[in-house]
Amino acid sequence: MGRSCMTCASPIEAGHITHKSLNDANSCGQCVKKPPAFDKVIAATRYKFPVDKALSELKFNKQLHYARSLSHVLERRIRLSYEDTPLPQALVAIPLHPKRLSERGFNQSDIITRHLSNSLGIQLSNALTRVKDTPHQIGLSEKQRRKNLNNAFYLRKSLPTHIALIDDVVTTGSTVSEAAKLCLNSGVKTVDVWCLAKT
Ligand SMILES: [Zn+2]
Repeated sequence: MGRSCMTCASPIEAGHITHKSLNDANSCGQCVKKPPAFDKVIAATRYKFPVDKALSELKFNKQLHYARSLSHVLERRIRLSYEDTPLPQALVAIPLHPKRLSERGFNQSDIITRHLSNSLGIQLSNALTRVKDTPHQIGLSEKQRRKNLNNAFYLRKSLPTHIALIDDVVTTGSTVSEAAKLCLNSGVKTVDVWCLAKT
């Protein structure tokens, strides 16, 4: 997968200057300057061909087998990444707005989350709900994305202190950041982000 930032999982170009103090070894400049709400992103792979095709087939043509095969890859990365640190106590899928859910018939993040919950033996939580139907984020600036996502989520029950948020694709991270902030404001201490693909 090449070298990537240990916080946001974005690629770090060869020769790019990285910050190597004790706390931010191998994080990208962006994460050092303005640390995100979440602790780290673990991605099965990069969002590029053929994974981008597989993920759009999954979402729009209900090719659910892609979720299962990519979840296996993600599971292996998670096991490696948590060899020396405790796994989260609950897994939380990034929810779809009920309107989108009824249009599509399934939430791909739920499928991934269920797979990982079974294979890793970590409980699922449905505490996080989506109360705002956010328009597609494609082509929007980071500022517009954040504005769209303002108050998009709601927590209907409490969560343990260490959780993982799970989404199919993480691009700028604005969606998971918004959800992570809400969790952190509600007593969660550590939020990790797991995804099938990171741009
Ligand atoms: Zn980063």
